Amino acid sequence: MTESNLASRTRNALWHPCTQMKHLERLPPLPIARGEGVWLIDPEGRRYLDAISSWWVNLFGHTNPRINAALIDQLSRIEHVILAGCTHAPVVDLSERLGALTGLGHAFYGSDGASATEIALKMSFHYWRNRGQPHKTGFVSLQNGYHGETLGALSVTDVALFKDVYAPLLRQSHQVASPDWRLAEPEESPEAYAWRAVAQMEDFLAECADTTAAVIVEPLVQGAAGMAMYHPIYLTRLRELCDQYQVHLIADEIAVGFGRAGTMFACEQAGIRADFLCLSKGITGGYLPLSCVLTTDAVYAAFYGDATARGFLHSHSYTGNPLACRAALAVLDIFEQDDVIAANRVKAARFTELLRDVAAHPRIRNFRHTGMIWAFDVADAAPGFSDDFHRRALEKGVFIRPIGHTVYFMPPYVIEEPEMRLLAETTLALL
Ligand SMILES: *Cc1c(COP(=O)(O)O)cnc(C)c1O
Repeated sequence: MTESNLASRTRNALWHPCTQMKHLERLPPLPIARGEGVWLIDPEGRRYLDAISSWWVNLFGHTNPRINAALIDQLSRIEHVILAGCTHAPVVDLSERLGALTGLGHAFYGSDGASATEIALKMSFHYWRNRGQPHKTGFVSLQNGYHGETLGALSVTDVALFKDVYAPLLRQSHQVASPDWRLAEPEESPEAYAWRAVAQMEDFLAECADTTAAVIVEPLVQGAAGMAMYHPIYLTRLRELCDQYQVHLIADEIAVGFGRAGTMFACEQAGIRADFLCLSKGITGGYLPLSCVLTTDAVYAAFYGDATARGFLHSHSYTGNPLACRAALAVLDIFEQDDVIAANRVKAARFTELLRDVAAHPRIRNFRHTGMIWAFDVADAAPGFSDDFHRRALEKGVFIRPIGHTVYFMPPYVIEEPEMRLLAETTLALL
C-alpha cells in the first residue's frame, strides 16, 4: 500500500477531526504504519518525533512493552462487560488507586474527555437539585477555556473557532477573565495578575452564586487556548471562593493530569482538592479512550437513597471498559516503579536548558514552561504559519502542530536527550 494511495483513500472514506477537508488536498495527512517510543513511523520507514504526544494523550511512548503486556493479559480474561449490574477487578482496582491519589473516593467513567465534562456538569446540577436548590443551574468558566466539543462541554468552552457556529444550540454560560499571565500589565507579576483575575470571579460569584452550580477550570494550563499558563494562587483563592459562595469547583485535568503539569495532578500545586476532577487523555497512556470523573463523599451522599431518580442515571456503553482500565493500571504502575514525577523534573530542567537559544530568539515572545509542557508565541507569524511550520518540521522528522502562532512541545515522558536536542535544533532552524 503506497503512501499516496492511503492519502487519497483517507480523503474519500473519512472525515478527519478538526479539519477543513479541502485543505487535505495540499497538506495530506501523514500515513502512520507503526510507532515506537517517541517515534511515529510511516509505511516507507521514515520516522517522525511525536512532539505533541498524539494530541496530548501519550505518556510512555508508542507500543510500550509494559502497557502492551497488561493489555495482552487482559485480552485473555475479559475484553468488555456491562458495568450496570456487573463489576470487575480492573475497574475496582483503578477506582481505588485513583481515589488514593486524589482523595476523591467515587469514580464515574466515560469514554472521552468531553463526556467527562458532561458528567461533571450534570452531577453538579443534579446534586443541588437533590439538596433542594434546583435554582442552581448555571456554570461559569474562564475566557479562552476549553472543555470539549459536545454541546454541554462546548457551552462552557470559550474558543470562538469551535463555538461560534453552534452558538444557537448551546446553553448560556458565563466566562470571566483568564489568569493567563500573558494578559498581565508590563510591570505586573503572574501572581499579581492571578489575584486581579480571581477578583473578577469573586465579583461574579458575589452576584450570581444563588443561580450557579459550578465553576469549571483547566488547572494551571489552558491547553487549547495555546498553552496559556497561570499562577497556582488563582486556584488556591478560587477554592476559598467556591467554599464561601457554595459553588462546586470542577477541575478539568483532562490535559494536565497524570504528571503533565509537573505534579501527578495540577491541583496539588495549589494545595487544593476540587469537588469534581475530570481525567482522560493520559489516563491510559494514550492507548484507549477512557475518562473518569472523581468526586467527594458529600456529592456521592446526595445521590444515595431509595428513589431511583435521585441516583445518577447517566451511562455510556463502554463505561469502565476492562481493557482501558488495565492500560490505566499499567500507567499507574509505571508512575510508581519509575518514580516518573521526579524523573520528569530532571528531564524538564534539561530540556528547558536545551531550549535556551529558542527562548532567546528575537522572533519569539512569552516563552513559558509548566511541567512537561513548553510553549512560545511567534511575534511576526504570517497567516498560514501553523500549517507551514507543521509541514517544514515534518521534512526534518518532527511531528508538531502549532496552535495559531503558538508553538508548543508536549513530548511523551520517555523522550531522551538526543530527541530533546533534535526538537530544540529543529525548532531553532525553522525559526
Ligand atoms: C482534550 C480536552 C477535552 C476534551 O477531551 P476529548 O477526549 O477530546 O473529548 C476537555 N478538556 C480539556 C482541558 C482538554 O484538553
